[in-house]
Amino acid sequence: MALNDAVDWRRDLGGGFRVALIQAGTFRSDAGALFGPVPRLLWDRLVTDEIDAEHRLLQALNCLLIETPAGRVLVETGIGERIDDKNRTMRGYAGPWIVPALRGAGFEPGSVDVVAMSHLHFDHAGGLLAPDGSRAFRRARVVAQRAEWEIALGSNPRLVASYVQPELELVRDWGAEGWVDGERELLPGVSVVPTGGHSAGHQAIVVRAPGAPPLAFFGDLAMRPWSANPRWVTSFDDFPLDSVEVKGSLFAQAADEGWTIVLSHEARQPVGRLVRDRDRFRYEAG
Ligand SMILES: [Zn+2]
Repeated sequence: MALNDAVDWRRDLGGGFRVALIQAGTFRSDAGALFGPVPRLLWDRLVTDEIDAEHRLLQALNCLLIETPAGRVLVETGIGERIDDKNRTMRGYAGPWIVPALRGAGFEPGSVDVVAMSHLHFDHAGGLLAPDGSRAFRRARVVAQRAEWEIALGSNPRLVASYVQPELELVRDWGAEGWVDGERELLPGVSVVPTGGHSAGHQAIVVRAPGAPPLAFFGDLAMRPWSANPRWVTSFDDFPLDSVEVKGSLFAQAADEGWTIVLSHEARQPVGRLVRDRDRFRYEAG
């Protein structure tokens, strides 16, 4: 299989809950930045088949469409179609963006009730807007933590670098209707849980269908299989000590309770579970 072939994955959780993976294209990120403080000697062998001439790794833009008896939740929106040519080339972005990807999977964008955002970095929030700058999901409430919006639209030069502020300003008015503070059930069985770490207002999305183990999307705290080690945090994490701590506690719960995990940027084996491994965890696909 080619690296850029989308993975077709769906699961019926029972009780009227169904989840489908929607891959909204791929982009490339600097390999060293993805491994943060971890020396290349330790990670080199993990990426030999995907690293390119510019020393970048292939990153999928994984989204989820969650069907529940009370409505539909989309998790994440990818980079979208409004990225300029310079950035498109620099980031090696290749579509389809979220709207055609969703339609290809059989879901109309207008049928989405809630869009749950782990955070608002460019590679997660870009698809909130259609190419003409209008709402890509016209009926949907966009749920992100208030703390995330405040940082994203703030003025800290280190923190705002990963956000595209002019684009988020276009979302702000209608996006503000979905601001939340803390843990919140969006629809029965679908909750957001604040984590911080990767970004100030980062949150996880957890699906609890009756009779099935929880399914979690930990956002960019769990981008790739090696993220299972709580100490392996990326250079893109704005609050790395918080990431290490929250990964330790969340991953322990997920491992001990047999949660299904969907990774945010893994192209080939994005669905699996966490298992305890000495003083850390290991990701097992499937
Ligand atoms: Zn990301």
